[in-house]
Amino acid sequence: ESTSGSNSRRYAKAAQYLLDKIDASSLGRFLRELTRRPHVAGLPENERLAQYVADTWRAQGLDRVEELRYDVLLSYPDGQNPNLVRVVDETGQAVFTAQTHQPPLHSPEERDPSVLQNFNAYSAPGQAQVTAGGSGDGNLVSCVMEEDFLYLQSQNISLKDHIVIARYGKIFRGNKAYLCEQFGCSALLLYSDPADGAPLGQSADAAYPNTVYMPSAGAQLGTVYRGTGDPLTPIYPSLESAYRLSEAEAELPRIPVQPISADDAYQILKLMPPTAAAPADWWGGLNLTYGLGPGPARPGWTVLMDIHTHGERANATNVIATLRGYEEPDRYVLVGNHRDAWILGAIDPSSGTAAMLELTRVLANLRKETGWRPRRSLVFCSWGAEEYGLVGSTEWVQHHRQQLAARAVAYLNVDLTINGNDTLRALGVPLLHDLLFAAARTVPNPDPEEVAAGRTTVYDTWLLHRLDNATGRPQVTLPGRGSDYKQFLHVEGVPSSDHRYFQKVKGLATDSGSSYPLYHTLYETYYMVTELQDRGLHFTTAVAQMWGEMARRLADDPVLPFGVVRYGTFLQEAFSVLEAHFGPRLRQNGVTLDYVRAAVEEFAEAATTFQEHFLRQLDLDDPLAVRQANDILMGVERSFLDPRGLPDRPDYNHVIFSPSSSDGYSGVVFPGLVDLLHDLDRLPADRRAAQWQKIKLHVSVLSYIIGSAAHGLQQDI
Ligand code: GLU
Ligand code: ZN
Ligand code: ZN
Repeated sequence: ESTSGSNSRRYAKAAQYLLDKIDASSLGRFLRELTRRPHVAGLPENERLAQYVADTWRAQGLDRVEELRYDVLLSYPDGQNPNLVRVVDETGQAVFTAQTHQPPLHSPEERDPSVLQNFNAYSAPGQAQVTAGGSGDGNLVSCVMEEDFLYLQSQNISLKDHIVIARYGKIFRGNKAYLCEQFGCSALLLYSDPADGAPLGQSADAAYPNTVYMPSAGAQLGTVYRGTGDPLTPIYPSLESAYRLSEAEAELPRIPVQPISADDAYQILKLMPPTAAAPADWWGGLNLTYGLGPGPARPGWTVLMDIHTHGERANATNVIATLRGYEEPDRYVLVGNHRDAWILGAIDPSSGTAAMLELTRVLANLRKETGWRPRRSLVFCSWGAEEYGLVGSTEWVQHHRQQLAARAVAYLNVDLTINGNDTLRALGVPLLHDLLFAAARTVPNPDPEEVAAGRTTVYDTWLLHRLDNATGRPQVTLPGRGSDYKQFLHVEGVPSSDHRYFQKVKGLATDSGSSYPLYHTLYETYYMVTELQDRGLHFTTAVAQMWGEMARRLADDPVLPFGVVRYGTFLQEAFSVLEAHFGPRLRQNGVTLDYVRAAVEEFAEAATTFQEHFLRQLDLDDPLAVRQANDILMGVERSFLDPRGLPDRPDYNHVIFSPSSSDGYSGVVFPGLVDLLHDLDRLPADRRAAQWQKIKLHVSVLSYIIGSAAHGLQQDI
């Protein structure tokens, strides 16, 4: 019998074992341990959890468990001086003060003395003040995204030196803060609108702890850093030997930013009502007239912000464990999740951490009970300080660049497991689409109603809710930043994915990729997950099962399960969209996309030839031939890297996709061109010619890189 024959039986057994043994109650016990206390990056409880994860992995019997600490710049509120947001009348009397904390509403953990007050990480410390009706001093203006700022400008509403009060949602909050800086605003208040988190209304029984919806006193914490990784060591790891920028030199927010609740936003807007009414689509669920500002309604009244959030050096602690491969120990399939939370983090990220610990428990038992070992090494990563801007994972990837650039097969991220429980949602590169589909097909549907309707697997429900008409498959979204795949994919070209259960977004006004009503609030408790969101943890279990199956196939399949042909089709489609959007304008300015088109066609053809001829004829019993094929496959994603980075973005190397420059949460295709053209329209006339030269250069880089990626699929030179 051939080795490949006996292997495939071995693999089938391992697959079934994972599905059978991943266990909701065991997972629940991990979740209980992880969510007893707040575990914010750099603070003692998150260090204790690092120890807990390391001890758990050692006890489970993983081969190598290591804790790695990076000395980085994090950011905290000042325990002695709470961040103040006030409305002061003309006599200097405070008529309103915003809540500094969220009120405990249910679980004892919500009263933990280490619960932090409301703050946005990396906000600049300082004061800002605006006076109603004062000439030039400005007032509140409300904006959400770039279009809104431009709209205000077009209405001759001055933004300079104003405090912006912006609704959370639609885009990454770091981009909102940056927009404020670009438009000269003095500070930013970020509030949670009831329309985004309280679909049943604002009465107390319509919200947590009775439902998963947002209480009117809830506030969303979160970073407003636009970079990623330690702000003091961009591009390079925060080693002891590292050159560090000063805080003043780092690309940190320059203005104070503070999150407030819906209650507080309501009070402030009531007391300082803006005059001009906002366009209808700006209106949310607060019971008032949504305005643009500024309004002279109460002459002499002032909004005052006094923010003490400040930078502090602390540790970003990662825990890394390996289950060594028996045949190709030098090929790494990486599985990762962050451990640090904003406060208790029962959903974000501890649901994912519990899933990872349960997965490693079962994999370690599989080895003990059956002698199974993966063909390639599985590397499990528990990241620190993700919430601050992907800090732990970024530093680690920078630090291990040489090993990862040459040997990483793929990175499978699960941040949190459950945004909701209607359907799967996945982010991932085209190379991993087929694997995502195949894995989802093996996982039993956790929703009994769906099973009753004949949709017996996770895939069936996913297809129903997310059908992509063009492919007849579920939609898979492109990764932006937003979680720890960023450095792997966008810098090192390691194929990456992320998956979770998701809501259909019924009744909620935004469908922002990252958020659910209680996102980053005090109310992400163990109770909330196990009683309200995922009773029985069946959905979390399904996410763990799917994660396990993807990891197992990447680690065990003799030929890596990468869809090169799908990558080709993806590029062809992306190119037609690009051509339709920008082709005419580029042509009018003497730039042709013909060479890019030719390179895309060449890649698609090379992919088909590789699949149909090379892989078809591969002798699976010849280890050297298999390794040759896999080397080519591992080179595919990396071949789209430009070591010089995207135009004006030296920290992003992948020329096919990157996080959008205007919204970190979303991914864009052909980001270099999109950004250059976006900026062109905002440049003064005398700088446009130079910008067109940059565009020409980038188009030529694109055709070269895609063409060389096509050559990478050939065996001969
Ligand atoms: N997941 C964190 C957030 O959404 C960090 C994301 C990032 O820095 O890209 O706030
Ligand atoms: Zn997270
Ligand atoms: Zn988060």
